[in-house]
Amino acid sequence: MDLKQFVAIVPDYPKQGIVFKDITPLMNDGEAYKYATDQIVDYAKDKQIDIIVGPEARGFIIGCPVAYALGVGFAPVRKEGKLPRETIKVGYGLEYGKDVLTIHKDAIKPGQRVLITDDLLATGGTIDATIQLVEQLGGVVAGIAFLVELSYLDGRKKLDGYDILSLMMY
Ligand code: IMP
Repeated sequence: MDLKQFVAIVPDYPKQGIVFKDITPLMNDGEAYKYATDQIVDYAKDKQIDIIVGPEARGFIIGCPVAYALGVGFAPVRKEGKLPRETIKVGYGLEYGKDVLTIHKDAIKPGQRVLITDDLLATGGTIDATIQLVEQLGGVVAGIAFLVELSYLDGRKKLDGYDILSLMMY
Protein backbone atom coordinates (compact mmCIF):
# COMPACT_ATOMS: atom_id res chain seq x y z
CA MET A 1 0.00 0.00 0.00
CA ASP A 2 1.25 3.50 -0.87
CA LEU A 3 0.94 5.21 2.51
CA LYS A 4 2.02 8.61 1.19
CA GLN A 5 -1.45 9.13 -0.30
CA PHE A 6 -2.66 9.36 3.33
CA VAL A 7 -0.24 12.14 4.34
CA ALA A 8 -1.47 15.72 3.84
CA ILE A 9 1.22 18.30 3.11
CA VAL A 10 0.46 21.59 4.88
CA PRO A 11 2.69 24.56 3.98
CA ASP A 12 3.49 27.21 6.62
CA TYR A 13 2.14 25.21 9.60
CA PRO A 14 2.66 25.74 12.51
CA LYS A 15 4.97 28.55 11.41
CA GLN A 16 5.95 30.30 8.18
CA GLY A 17 8.45 28.17 6.24
CA ILE A 18 7.59 24.81 7.88
CA VAL A 19 6.06 22.24 5.53
CA PHE A 20 4.02 20.11 7.92
CA LYS A 21 3.27 16.45 7.17
CA ASP A 22 -0.16 15.69 8.59
CA ILE A 23 -0.68 11.98 9.26
CA THR A 24 -4.29 12.28 10.48
CA PRO A 25 -5.70 11.13 7.08
CA LEU A 26 -3.77 7.88 7.60
CA MET A 27 -5.34 7.43 11.03
CA ASN A 28 -8.75 8.27 9.59
CA ASP A 29 -8.51 5.34 7.17
CA GLY A 30 -8.97 1.99 8.90
CA GLU A 31 -7.11 -0.01 6.25
CA ALA A 32 -4.15 2.37 6.08
CA TYR A 33 -3.87 2.65 9.87
CA LYS A 34 -3.99 -1.15 10.21
CA TYR A 35 -1.47 -1.62 7.40
CA ALA A 36 0.99 0.86 8.96
CA THR A 37 0.54 -0.71 12.40
CA ASP A 38 1.11 -4.21 10.96
CA GLN A 39 4.37 -3.05 9.33
CA ILE A 40 5.68 -1.86 12.69
CA VAL A 41 4.50 -5.03 14.45
CA ASP A 42 6.37 -7.09 11.82
CA TYR A 43 9.52 -5.04 12.41
CA ALA A 44 9.25 -5.45 16.19
CA LYS A 45 8.14 -9.04 16.56
CA ASP A 46 11.63 -10.65 16.61
CA LYS A 47 13.14 -7.97 18.86
CA GLN A 48 11.87 -9.37 22.18
CA ILE A 49 10.21 -6.08 23.05
CA ASP A 50 9.05 -5.74 26.68
CA ILE A 51 7.49 -2.29 26.48
CA ILE A 52 6.74 0.49 24.01
CA VAL A 53 7.58 4.12 24.75
CA GLY A 54 6.18 7.03 22.74
CA PRO A 55 6.29 10.81 23.12
CA GLU A 56 3.04 12.77 23.24
CA ALA A 57 0.84 12.96 21.45
CA ARG A 58 1.27 11.21 18.13
CA GLY A 59 3.77 8.71 19.56
CA PHE A 60 0.79 7.32 21.51
CA ILE A 61 -1.30 6.94 18.35
CA ILE A 62 1.43 4.90 16.68
CA GLY A 63 2.66 2.98 19.73
CA CYS A 64 -0.54 1.87 21.46
CA PRO A 65 -1.95 -0.33 18.68
CA VAL A 66 1.50 -1.91 18.29
CA ALA A 67 1.62 -2.57 22.06
CA TYR A 68 -1.81 -4.20 21.86
CA ALA A 69 -0.76 -6.39 18.92
CA LEU A 70 2.47 -7.48 20.64
CA GLY A 71 0.76 -7.96 24.02
CA VAL A 72 3.19 -5.61 25.78
CA GLY A 73 2.75 -2.42 27.80
CA PHE A 74 3.07 1.23 26.81
CA ALA A 75 4.81 4.04 28.71
CA PRO A 76 3.99 7.66 27.79
CA VAL A 77 6.65 10.34 27.50
CA ARG A 78 5.07 13.74 28.16
CA LYS A 79 5.86 17.41 28.42
CA GLU A 80 6.82 18.67 31.87
CA GLY A 81 3.99 18.87 34.40
CA LYS A 82 1.69 16.36 32.67
CA LEU A 83 2.64 13.14 34.48
CA PRO A 84 1.23 12.92 38.03
CA ARG A 85 3.91 10.92 39.86
CA GLU A 86 7.69 11.06 40.25
CA THR A 87 9.42 11.63 36.91
CA ILE A 88 12.85 12.12 35.37
CA LYS A 89 13.29 14.80 32.73
CA VAL A 90 15.45 15.75 29.75
CA GLY A 91 15.57 19.06 27.86
CA TYR A 92 15.65 19.08 24.06
CA GLY A 93 15.44 21.30 20.98
CA LEU A 94 12.62 20.85 18.46
CA GLU A 95 12.43 21.59 14.73
CA TYR A 96 10.39 24.60 15.89
CA GLY A 97 10.90 25.40 19.60
CA LYS A 98 12.37 24.05 22.82
CA ASP A 99 10.90 21.83 25.48
CA VAL A 100 11.33 19.33 28.32
CA LEU A 101 10.21 15.71 28.18
CA THR A 102 9.48 13.52 31.20
CA ILE A 103 8.72 9.88 32.01
CA HIS A 104 7.54 8.23 35.21
CA LYS A 105 10.51 6.95 37.18
CA ASP A 106 8.98 3.48 37.51
CA ALA A 107 7.78 3.20 33.89
CA ILE A 108 10.68 1.00 32.74
CA LYS A 109 12.55 -1.66 34.68
CA PRO A 110 16.33 -1.99 34.19
CA GLY A 111 17.13 -4.34 31.31
CA GLN A 112 13.72 -4.09 29.65
CA ARG A 113 13.83 -4.00 25.86
CA VAL A 114 12.07 -0.95 24.50
CA LEU A 115 10.55 -0.05 21.15
CA ILE A 116 10.21 3.73 20.73
CA THR A 117 7.47 4.98 18.41
CA ASP A 118 6.55 8.35 16.96
CA ASP A 119 4.75 9.66 13.90
CA LEU A 120 7.66 11.53 12.41
CA LEU A 121 11.44 11.93 12.57
CA ALA A 122 12.48 15.53 11.83
CA THR A 123 15.68 16.81 13.50
CA GLY A 124 15.72 13.85 15.91
CA GLY A 125 15.60 16.01 19.05
CA THR A 126 12.39 14.47 20.41
CA ILE A 127 13.57 10.91 19.99
CA ASP A 128 17.10 11.70 21.20
CA ALA A 129 15.53 13.00 24.44
CA THR A 130 13.22 9.96 24.60
CA ILE A 131 16.24 7.63 24.23
CA GLN A 132 17.99 9.46 27.07
CA LEU A 133 14.95 9.00 29.33
CA VAL A 134 14.72 5.27 28.51
CA GLU A 135 18.45 4.71 29.04
CA GLN A 136 18.52 6.71 32.30
CA LEU A 137 15.96 4.22 33.62
CA GLY A 138 18.12 1.29 32.48
CA GLY A 139 16.03 0.37 29.44
CA VAL A 140 17.59 -0.99 26.26
CA VAL A 141 16.42 0.70 23.04
CA ALA A 142 15.89 -2.29 20.75
CA GLY A 143 14.25 -0.34 17.92
CA ILE A 144 12.69 2.95 16.89
CA ALA A 145 9.74 3.14 14.48
CA PHE A 146 8.29 6.13 12.64
CA LEU A 147 5.63 6.56 10.03
CA VAL A 148 7.54 9.40 8.36
CA GLU A 149 11.18 10.44 8.15
CA LEU A 150 12.18 13.88 6.83
CA SER A 151 15.56 12.77 5.53
CA TYR A 152 16.59 16.33 4.57
CA LEU A 153 16.70 17.27 8.29
CA ASP A 154 19.29 14.56 9.02
CA GLY A 155 17.62 13.34 12.22
CA ARG A 156 19.01 9.85 11.61
CA LYS A 157 22.53 11.17 12.26
CA LYS A 158 21.52 12.13 15.80
CA LEU A 159 20.24 8.57 16.32
CA ASP A 160 23.39 6.92 15.01
CA GLY A 161 23.85 3.33 16.18
CA TYR A 162 20.14 2.69 16.80
CA ASP A 163 17.92 0.38 14.74
CA ILE A 164 15.40 2.58 12.90
CA LEU A 165 12.32 1.84 10.78
CA SER A 166 10.60 4.58 8.75
CA LEU A 167 7.58 3.62 6.67
CA MET A 168 7.75 6.76 4.51
CA MET A 169 10.71 8.86 3.50
CA TYR A 170 10.60 12.49 2.28
P1 IMP B 1 12.15 16.42 15.86
O1 IMP B 1 12.30 16.41 17.34
O2 IMP B 1 12.74 17.64 15.23
O3 IMP B 1 12.63 15.13 15.22
O4 IMP B 1 10.61 16.57 15.56
C1 IMP B 1 9.77 15.47 15.63
C2 IMP B 1 8.60 15.76 16.51
O5 IMP B 1 7.92 16.92 16.09
C3 IMP B 1 7.63 14.61 16.43
O6 IMP B 1 7.12 14.30 17.72
C4 IMP B 1 6.56 15.08 15.50
O7 IMP B 1 5.28 14.71 15.93
C5 IMP B 1 6.70 16.61 15.46
N1 IMP B 1 6.80 17.08 14.08
C6 IMP B 1 7.80 17.80 13.52
N2 IMP B 1 7.56 18.08 12.24
C7 IMP B 1 6.38 17.49 11.97
C8 IMP B 1 5.58 17.36 10.77
O8 IMP B 1 5.90 17.84 9.67
N3 IMP B 1 4.44 16.63 10.90
C9 IMP B 1 4.06 16.04 12.05
N4 IMP B 1 4.77 16.15 13.17
C10 IMP B 1 5.91 16.86 13.13
